[in-house]
Amino acid sequence: MYTNWDELESDCKSCRKCGLCETRTNVVFGVGNPKAKVLFVGEGPGENEDLQGEPFVGRGGQLLDKMLAAVDLDRKKNIYIANIVKCRPPKNRDPLPEEQKACTEWLRNQFALIRPKIVVCLGRIAAAKLIKEDIKITKEHGIFFEKNGTLFMGTLHPAALLRNPNNKPGAFEDFLKLRQKIDELGLES
Ligand code: SF4
Repeated sequence: MYTNWDELESDCKSCRKCGLCETRTNVVFGVGNPKAKVLFVGEGPGENEDLQGEPFVGRGGQLLDKMLAAVDLDRKKNIYIANIVKCRPPKNRDPLPEEQKACTEWLRNQFALIRPKIVVCLGRIAAAKLIKEDIKITKEHGIFFEKNGTLFMGTLHPAALLRNPNNKPGAFEDFLKLRQKIDELGLES
C-alpha cells in the first residue's frame, strides 16, 4: 500500500496493468481534495475525460458540478472524485470485470489515503462494485449503507440523468440527503 499521494498518482499515471492502456489518451487519476471527507466514485472516463485527464468534464460533469454546488460541494475544495477504472473503455462500453479487477488496486489506495467518511457511487457500475453486486440503482439510490465505518450511497449517473431528465429531481434529493448527512456527522465539507 502507498503512504504518499504523489507517488500513488505518479505510478497510476504510468500504469499498463490492463488492455485499456493501449487506447487511452490520458490516465484519469481523479480530481479534488485528497483530504476531503466525501469521495465520489464513477465508473470510468468518457471521451472528454480521456482527452482532458479529469473525471466528469463533459455535459454530465457540468450537471454534476451544478448539483454539487447546490449543496455547497465543490470538486476543487471539499470532495474528491475518482473512477473505478482510470482509463477510457473504447466507445464508452462498460469496463470489463477483468479491467475493473486490475484497476481496483488504485482506487483501494486512494481510499486508504483519503479515508472518506462518505462514498457516493455515481451510477450502477460503481454502486455494484462498492455497495452490493445486485443493487437496483433506480430503486435504491439515496440509501446509505454502512460498511466498516464508512457510509456508502448510490445515486444516478449524471449521463443517465441527461438521457432521462425525469429522474433529475430524484437524484437531486440524494444530494440533499448527502448534505444532511454531512451536517449531521459534523464533517468539514
Ligand atoms: S484502466 Fe487501470 S489497470 Fe488498466 S491500464 Fe488504466 S490505470 Fe492501469
